[in-house]
Amino acid sequence: MAQSRIMVVDGSAVSREIVIRILTEVIEGAEITACAGGLEALEQLDQQQYDLITTALMLSDIDGLDLCRRVRASSRHRFTPVIVISGDANERLLKEGFAAGVTDYFDKSHGYPLFGQFIKAFNQRSTGLVGRVLYVEDSLTAATFTLRILERHGLQVTHVSSAEEALAILQRRHDTPEAERDEAEQFDLVLTDFHLQSMTGGDLLHAIRTRYQYSRQTLPVLMITGSDCSRTQVEAFHAGANDFINKPMIEEVLMARIHSLMLIKQQYDVLQRQTQAMEKVATTDSLTGVRNRHYLFEHGESLRNAAENQPFWSMIIDIDHFKQINDDQGHLVGDHILVALGELLNRHFPDATVIRFGGEEFVVLLPHTLRKDAMYRAEGLRQAVEILHPEGVPFTISIGMAGSEDHPQADLNALLRLADEALYASKLAGRNRVHFTPAGAAPVALALGAASSA
Ligand code: GH3
Ligand code: MG
Ligand code: MG
Ligand code: MG
Repeated sequence: MAQSRIMVVDGSAVSREIVIRILTEVIEGAEITACAGGLEALEQLDQQQYDLITTALMLSDIDGLDLCRRVRASSRHRFTPVIVISGDANERLLKEGFAAGVTDYFDKSHGYPLFGQFIKAFNQRSTGLVGRVLYVEDSLTAATFTLRILERHGLQVTHVSSAEEALAILQRRHDTPEAERDEAEQFDLVLTDFHLQSMTGGDLLHAIRTRYQYSRQTLPVLMITGSDCSRTQVEAFHAGANDFINKPMIEEVLMARIHSLMLIKQQYDVLQRQTQAMEKVATTDSLTGVRNRHYLFEHGESLRNAAENQPFWSMIIDIDHFKQINDDQGHLVGDHILVALGELLNRHFPDATVIRFGGEEFVVLLPHTLRKDAMYRAEGLRQAVEILHPEGVPFTISIGMAGSEDHPQADLNALLRLADEALYASKLAGRNRVHFTPAGAAPVALALGAASSA
């Protein structure tokens, strides 16, 4: 709620001071107007728009609940949240607060320090209706009326007058890769009339749920129905509508339904992003930024299976005499070398899965790559490491590799074992070299002339 304009009404100068100080701390850029009485406040509220009103229950001129009723009756502040701050009126607020239009209540007998937390939580609950609506309505009169409401509440609306047009937009979105999608077509909600020319709102809903596979959480649908068609309403629920609203629509009801559906969708989005971020953290090696062992065990076999009959190569990469480097240069320099190698591997194999298998050993799974290309890339990596000199320290790697072209029956474990045998051969042969394990034979050194004719 940046740049909020807030009205604070309280007869006590001390209380006003405290409330103002807390609001200023908690709400960034808050512009606060304070009034000692209700009538003065109403006058101010008439002059300009406020985003939040807090009031004491007992005021010297009018009652806090009366102030709230008059705020609700005004055209300017019908929807502005009103928070009552009081210490001793639980009972009365419970009985009358709802009807008077009180949005929330802070019991100051809990102490003002808690007011800050209360406001923060309140803000999170009620921060704006920021979102995009795809609105399908064929009656121009109804559309003009509803559009004005939606836009007044801060929503961005794309209005179309047929289900076919809505489908065309959704189809375009569906056909566009995620990175290239137009922001204006990232909808948080579909609001559709049931009665439309040719295709109905029900047909549109059906397509949203079945053809495009949007769930109730990823794209909520609010269906507009006639008040007398309970059968349509039941059918709409069966077809996956989140909710319905009768015509003629009442602004408060429409906005409340939209608000709760958007909240569900936006919370679901946050949860999805958090899950993805956590999954990423859990499967990434914190030192080198490549995937960790855990990832290999979780996804390795399915990566191998996804390659099916395509050539698939596994590589094991091990730093030469790394123990010696640690001993000579210190463990910290050793760590920097691991980081530099991790970065190089990610750059060198953007199309592959790079895993830190443990210590100074890395695995690369390279799908859709022919033997010759895999060998050139392994040799290219070996040479790139030779000239890397991170922290000014030269180092080398040994590589072992095995591919499905030579071992079509081998699963991932078998391929890794064959690659490990080849790595051992590279070490034995003097390190800083590449070996691979051909079909039915012991590992052999890479000879790129021979490989290119293979
Ligand atoms: P070889 O050429 O035969 O591979 O010799 P090596 O010294 O590289 O192999 P060895 O397996 O004997 O030693 C691996 C060393 O890697 C031992 C260990 O201290 C070091 N190491 C493992 N993990 C880390 C790490 O995270 N940071 C640092 N700095 N060193 C590590
Ligand atoms: Mg070793
Ligand atoms: Mg080593
Ligand atoms: Mg090792």
